[in-house]
Amino acid sequence: MPIRQLAPEVAAKIAAGEVVERPASVVKELIENSIDAGASQIRVDLIRGGLQLIRVSDNGCGIPAEELPLALARHATSKVSTVEDLESIRSLGFRGEALASIAAVAEVVLISRPRGALHSAQISACNGQISAVSPAASPEGTIVTVRNLFSAVPARLKFLKSRQTEVSHCLHLLQQYALAYPEIRFTVTSEGREVFATPGDGQLATVLVQMYGPAVARQMVPLSGQSADDPERPVISGYVSRPACYKSTRQYLSFFVNRRWVHSRLLIAAVEEAYRTLLLSGRHPLAVINIQVDPSQIDVNVHPAKTEIRFLRERRIYAELMRAVRRAVLEEAEAPSWQPAQ
Ligand code: ADP
Ligand code: MG
Repeated sequence: MPIRQLAPEVAAKIAAGEVVERPASVVKELIENSIDAGASQIRVDLIRGGLQLIRVSDNGCGIPAEELPLALARHATSKVSTVEDLESIRSLGFRGEALASIAAVAEVVLISRPRGALHSAQISACNGQISAVSPAASPEGTIVTVRNLFSAVPARLKFLKSRQTEVSHCLHLLQQYALAYPEIRFTVTSEGREVFATPGDGQLATVLVQMYGPAVARQMVPLSGQSADDPERPVISGYVSRPACYKSTRQYLSFFVNRRWVHSRLLIAAVEEAYRTLLLSGRHPLAVINIQVDPSQIDVNVHPAKTEIRFLRERRIYAELMRAVRRAVLEEAEAPSWQPAQ
């Protein structure tokens, strides 16, 4: 075949594939948008593991009616504007392609009412076709409804696992965000039933009890906070499990760098190294770890899903994290159990 420029809708579907792999990827992008919008309450409703419906409602800053078409356009974002901005990303989103990608592979309805505005407006998109903006009724904030994900992309549907698997991917992800943002009230329903609701009281300890149960939460010890006198020094906080409490998978190791949920072999390795003499092989600790670093010390623009991250000073992060975990586990191992608040 000769070389040909792809039709825009074909190119859009290919690009969407990098962002939207499964329902959980849609959930992730939507709640990240709600968090970036400054929401203190986020509600997520799922039907059929998100394949039939994903709805994320927030009380964030909202989108003005005239900007709704841009919200669905590719490479349109309110979060970065210059190349320099990319060097110090403080928001979770920055690529301006999540909503466009989702709209390329699903039916999307976006309803929004900016804070203080009298009216709300809506726009919809069906597998890439975008409607005109029309009046709507809704409280302040934004409601994004995504229906029939991948119904027009049979190749992708084929690769999805059972509905139950998709539900558990979505719930795992939502648990992670609830742990990362204890100050946000998350309400999550699946098939119309409430799965969890966090109080939004700002206490990680409260969310830990809710997610992992009081027995496990009692086995978690806090990482001692470090002063940020040296701006290049990572500030590490969170909870790790006592060696008596472990899991057979690494699923309970959660890392947030500058409040972004990340997958990082480096961070996993640092934590596991701290437990090396304390846990038998095949046993893995639980951890919820927040790392704050200067944004110039990391690169989050590694992959469209933004869950991979590169550290400028890998060895330093590794060593500091290992030491912090080791210190917490050894020092606290003898201390009395931490009691969750009633
Ligand atoms: P990005 O998050 O990378 O900017 P998105 O495609 O996810 O790209 O969103 C495009 C734009 O739409 C955002 O920059 C933001 O201005 C707006 N937006 C999306 N979701 C929300 C929301 N829940 N509340 C307020 N604004 C939103
Ligand atoms: Mg986004």
